[in-house]
Amino acid sequence: MHLVWTGVAKVFSDRGVPGLEFVQDGAVAGEVFAFGISEGGNDLVLFGSDTAAVPDGDGGYSFTGTKIFTSLAPVWTKLGLHGLDTTSADAPKLVFAFIDRTDAVTTSDDWDTLGMRATQSRTTRLNGATADAAHVVRRIDPGPSPDPIVFGIFSVFEILLASVYTGIARRALELAVATAQKRHSKRTGLAYSQDPDIRWRIADMSIAYDALPPQIAQLARDVDDRVDNGARWFPLLSGVKHRAITMAKQVVDDAMLVAGGGSYFSANELSRLYRDVLAGAFHPSDPESAHSTAAGALLGPLQT
Ligand SMILES: Cc1cc2nc3c(=O)[nH]c(=O)nc-3n(C[C@H](O)[C@H](O)[C@H](O)COP(=O)(O)OP(=O)(O)OC[C@H]3O[C@@H](n4cnc5c(N)ncnc54)[C@H](O)[C@@H]3O)c2cc1C
Repeated sequence: MHLVWTGVAKVFSDRGVPGLEFVQDGAVAGEVFAFGISEGGNDLVLFGSDTAAVPDGDGGYSFTGTKIFTSLAPVWTKLGLHGLDTTSADAPKLVFAFIDRTDAVTTSDDWDTLGMRATQSRTTRLNGATADAAHVVRRIDPGPSPDPIVFGIFSVFEILLASVYTGIARRALELAVATAQKRHSKRTGLAYSQDPDIRWRIADMSIAYDALPPQIAQLARDVDDRVDNGARWFPLLSGVKHRAITMAKQVVDDAMLVAGGGSYFSANELSRLYRDVLAGAFHPSDPESAHSTAAGALLGPLQT
């Protein structure tokens, strides 16, 4: 999530958009940035917020609300977040800003989850947490927006997420290959790597995995090279994230079958990958959102 903000800062600087220089300078100086967007029950995600953003009259804001799943919770030093300004003359405006960790921020110790233990994505309560004018990055209309903050977050987030879960799949494939070479059949006396069914399963995993790294690399290059994919960007980005998650889940599932019962023990690395990979579907774009984006691109908007 630190890389999401430093990535958005790069998207800005590559396009000559000012405002996030302090993120690049801060990262160099050792600041740890967290990403405070998710809120309970807010399926608008980037396009809306239940957090109150109250202007201070000098261009700054104070934020009150609850953010969920804030990764890096024990260690972040700056939290990039959004909230809704409903009181200014031009309200409503979605405000994107960065706050410091002060007494106005409470981090719960509630990351008791099935997997992804290391992310420590705890609940964050904001009680008038302030950002001065220099750390208010954007004020935009709620809803879908052509603003670079939306493209920046969307592109960097989806590509990083796709990369993380593709990495899980790669490790599961490595472990499956190693186990198939190590385990021997009493029936044939041969290593499982000689079993045609296991060979087929590992080949299937590899064929599925191999599709993702080139897609991720190409889209990342397109972002860096400022390629104009227009409205296609959104199905391309949510699509690569969805394909990566679906592929990774299937590959880890297959790796568990190749590795056998030993992988069911909690201490087994594959067991951890199995638990971690499940988290992939919850991150935006979830399967529903990825499909509605793809359908909208091909069929036009849903008529109500
Ligand atoms: C490993 C991991 C790391 C993540 N890191 C980040 C991060 O750093 N920053 C970030 O912004 N997001 C992060 N996310 C959040 C993620 O991207 C999704 O937004 C999150 O999974 C919520 O999904 P959901 O809406 O399906 O969950 P839901 O199950 O709908 O909601 C999650 C929780 O919110 C509460 N809730 C749900 N509905 C309501 C309601 N109507 N009213 C009140 N409370 C409600 C419940 O307590 C529920 O358990 C992370 C997710 C994961 C799995």
